[in-house]
Amino acid sequence: MTAVGAAYLVSATLFILALRWMSTPETARRAVASAVAAMVIAVAATLARPDVVEYQWIAIAAVLGTIVGVPLSRVPLTAVPERTGLSQAFGGLAAALVGTAKYYLWLEEGGLTPFRTGVISLEVILGCLTCTGGLMAAGKLADWIPSKSITYPFQNVVNLSLLGAALLLGVYLVINPAASWALPVIIALALAFGIALLMPIGGADMPTVISFLNAYAGISAVLMGIVLENLLLITAGALDGASGFILSVVMCKAMNRPMTNVLFGAFGSAPAGAAATGEVKVAQSATAGDAAMLMSQADRVVIVPGYGMAVAQAQHRARELYDQLTKRGVDVKFAVHPVAGRMPGHMNVLLAEADIPYDRLVEMDDINPDMPQVDVVLVIGANDVVNPAARTDTASPIYGMPIIDADKARTVLCIKRSMNPGFSGIENELYYNANTLMLFGDAKAMMGEIVKQLSGEAAAA
Ligand code: NDP
Repeated sequence: MTAVGAAYLVSATLFILALRWMSTPETARRAVASAVAAMVIAVAATLARPDVVEYQWIAIAAVLGTIVGVPLSRVPLTAVPERTGLSQAFGGLAAALVGTAKYYLWLEEGGLTPFRTGVISLEVILGCLTCTGGLMAAGKLADWIPSKSITYPFQNVVNLSLLGAALLLGVYLVINPAASWALPVIIALALAFGIALLMPIGGADMPTVISFLNAYAGISAVLMGIVLENLLLITAGALDGASGFILSVVMCKAMNRPMTNVLFGAFGSAPAGAAATGEVKVAQSATAGDAAMLMSQADRVVIVPGYGMAVAQAQHRARELYDQLTKRGVDVKFAVHPVAGRMPGHMNVLLAEADIPYDRLVEMDDINPDMPQVDVVLVIGANDVVNPAARTDTASPIYGMPIIDADKARTVLCIKRSMNPGFSGIENELYYNANTLMLFGDAKAMMGEIVKQLSGEAAAA
């Protein structure tokens, strides 16, 4: 085995270990370090390959990549989904460009075979649709373009025709590898398909779509690896593609939505159900002092974090509250819904950042049977993931999505700024229940006030 081959083997092993270690918060940091090491080894080994003879273009690309990459790595955690969409777009673009360059190179050298043109066509189609799809997803999430679902009659037929035409031209290219006019048409069709595919998908489904795009980017990397005859690229692309698909499936399951519904269902375009009935309902509000008193007198408190905690960056206040309550002998747990926030693991990352002990984090299925015995549930900026309509209202767009049964606890405290709906755009009955008290305000400020009340009380005692 050559030195480059050995380095590729080490790198592939580190990539596989990184994915393995990513599965629990305890080993997640090690996973990131392992993936970084794998990538450094992969790049260094590739640069050392004897077939790499000129470095000036690589150096220019590396400098440009660094200039774009460093600011991208500094985005706040709440902007990670759109940043991931941008990364996907660049990954897809890179695959499409490599495929296109190889096609014209082989055309000149007479190296085109039906197999090579077939692989290049697929690589370019997937790369291009991932590129425009990733840009659309990032744009919708960052509100650069309207995030709502845009639909028109026969949309799916139009979309599938674009993809079908690109694939048919790919077949034509396999039969006539020298028909060079076909490749630019394939590129245009695939770029248009990426835009058309994302148009009917509303902002609420974007994280899932980004995960799908991640899978497409992985498959285009596999095809790029085949074109470049690079085994490591094939391995890393396969890992990326498979994990992207698995993640998409996990997210669809957590939302109880079939994949086809996410991709073609135009979720989010439906009118808000209960909000439109005109029925007047009243929610009861409470103060930070009331919340502090209720929680300090409880035996069991469950904290349910959601997207609002991420927006407010209230995780450190949550840690302070945890400290105050446990000091008083209250049993405090954090119930984490798999799609709370805007990306899988969003809440786990924030709670880990605030050093909440891992054994205090409980998954939805484990906490739900205990809910009737819980004295107080504190919902911090979560909405859809605690909406009982998912259990009871068959007409609700989120019907069937598993939720954290916060409403079954003896008392429910909800921190949010207004009565506005969550990401799915539907009203939440939980806020009007007799056992619910609303704590209106920014999550960080409200949590700070509750902690102040508790620590003041402790100091006075
Ligand atoms: P939601 O988007 O349902 O609700 C968040 C709530 O936070 C809002 O109602 C908002 O109310 C409140 N909020 C926002 N900012 C603040 C603030 N500064 N202080 C206090 N409250 C604030 O979030 P959930 O986490 O409950 O649900 C996640 C949603 O995202 C689900 O619909 C899920 O399906 C979807 N999704 C998530 C994915 C994932 O991977 N995590 C993937 C795909 C979809 P107000 O404006 O009144 O303050």
